[in-house]
Amino acid sequence: MTLPGVRGRLTPDYPLGKDSWFRCGGSVDVLFEPADLDDLSEFLKSFDDPVMVLGGLANTIIRDGGIRGCVIRLGKAFSAIEVSGTKIRVGAGALNGSVASAAAKNGIGGLEFLSGIPGSVGGALRMNAGAYGAEVKDVLVEAEAINHNARIHKLIPDNMGMTYRHIDVPDDYIFTGATFEGLEEKFNNIFKKRIKRDSYFKIKSGIFGTKEEIDSSLFGDNQEDKELEQTKALIEEQKKKEQARKKNFLNYRKNSITNLEKSSFLFEDSYLNFLKKSNRYEFELIDYQFLNGEFVYKITFAPKRKEDYKGTLYINTDDFAIVRLDYENVKALRNFRLLGISFNEYLRKGTFIYSKNILFYLTTIFLKSLLPTFKIFTSSSPKISFCKSSTETSSILTPLCFIFLLASPPLSAIFSSIKISTSTSGTWKFQIY
Ligand SMILES: Cc1cc2nc3c(=O)[nH]c(=O)nc-3n(C[C@H](O)[C@H](O)[C@H](O)COP(=O)(O)OP(=O)(O)OC[C@H]3O[C@@H](n4cnc5c(N)ncnc54)[C@H](O)[C@@H]3O)c2cc1C
Repeated sequence: MTLPGVRGRLTPDYPLGKDSWFRCGGSVDVLFEPADLDDLSEFLKSFDDPVMVLGGLANTIIRDGGIRGCVIRLGKAFSAIEVSGTKIRVGAGALNGSVASAAAKNGIGGLEFLSGIPGSVGGALRMNAGAYGAEVKDVLVEAEAINHNARIHKLIPDNMGMTYRHIDVPDDYIFTGATFEGLEEKFNNIFKKRIKRDSYFKIKSGIFGTKEEIDSSLFGDNQEDKELEQTKALIEEQKKKEQARKKNFLNYRKNSITNLEKSSFLFEDSYLNFLKKSNRYEFELIDYQFLNGEFVYKITFAPKRKEDYKGTLYINTDDFAIVRLDYENVKALRNFRLLGISFNEYLRKGTFIYSKNILFYLTTIFLKSLLPTFKIFTSSSPKISFCKSSTETSSILTPLCFIFLLASPPLSAIFSSIKISTSTSGTWKFQIY
């Protein structure tokens, strides 16, 4: 017999009988303990004599005459045990007892039966070993083997013809490792795969039988996880919608306020042009009253002919600041008809309430020093008689008007037309109806 070069251990004339469970029997011509899978593979490729694989020798009695040829034993190099989640991957040389305790330590249920079976995983695979009502087939996920031509095979239980203490796998296959899964996990997976939610299944055991209803709760974590994921996705979606809504709402409010601001009578193109084009309106002082602690003139204005708005001005009797303006349209704003569709906008009504701010007072002090002698003219509307001809009115000029004053002659004309608007400086408060 020619022995190839190997990295593992080759022992000629090894007394194998003493290692067997029954401590009897002769020697083997050569015992080979490979260093790893590659070593085993190289050996198988180059060794032509008969080989036999043995494990823990718990199911083998060696005759006194010993064994001719080579016996391969998978030692420490094939004894690794790795746990990954509910699965456990083991080398074929690992002892069944060690696998059972590793599974128990890692909370993998269903492999306890292995603790009652002496020998190695390789031997247990070869005979579908079993105990206490369970067998290798129940917990096996996959097995790896190498044949005498050094070809590697991956095997699953369905293809191994596993029956009671028997498998249909060629004799020359040497198991090198296996992956097991806890019986409970395996059962759960089979259960989830084969049984429909909200159905029934029958359990038959001897003379007893029962009918179990399968409700969704039996699908446990899986269902909960799905629901959790769905809920998270829903919350995310709603958050996004809410953010978009807030953004749109903010833009909408900004636009509304900007439009409202533009509609102030301060601006030339405002539809509230009762001051800029005061000759087109009738003004009438109808009352004096207290408004928010201030004594005010109450002046109504209404269009003489074509203008669109009427309203009421509340003007501080002390500094002539407009403190409030109520307005509403006098005729339909828009009339649109096309192809049987008509659109009418009838009402635009609102109230502006003004208040002063600190900037206003600082400006007035500055303007007072600059413009001590200015005379303020009354409005072009003869009915407005509340405007005093006094330098005091400079105290109601705004920075805006100040710029107008410096930039645009003739001053008196501008001043006359802006005399009320100048008194509206301050922080604007909008009330939208
Ligand atoms: C006290 C006692 C109690 C037992 N109780 C049980 C029990 O409850 N249930 C049960 O099923 N068995 C039981 N057995 C039998 C024995 O434990 C099993 O058959 C065990 O699987 C043998 O494994 P082993 O590694 O010792 O195999 P070995 O005895 O070394 O070999 C057995 C067979 O397996 C083959 N083999 C070994 N390793 C490999 C491998 N890596 N690849 C391919 N083939 C290989 C061998 O070629 C041989 O044909 C018991 C044995 C004893 C002594």
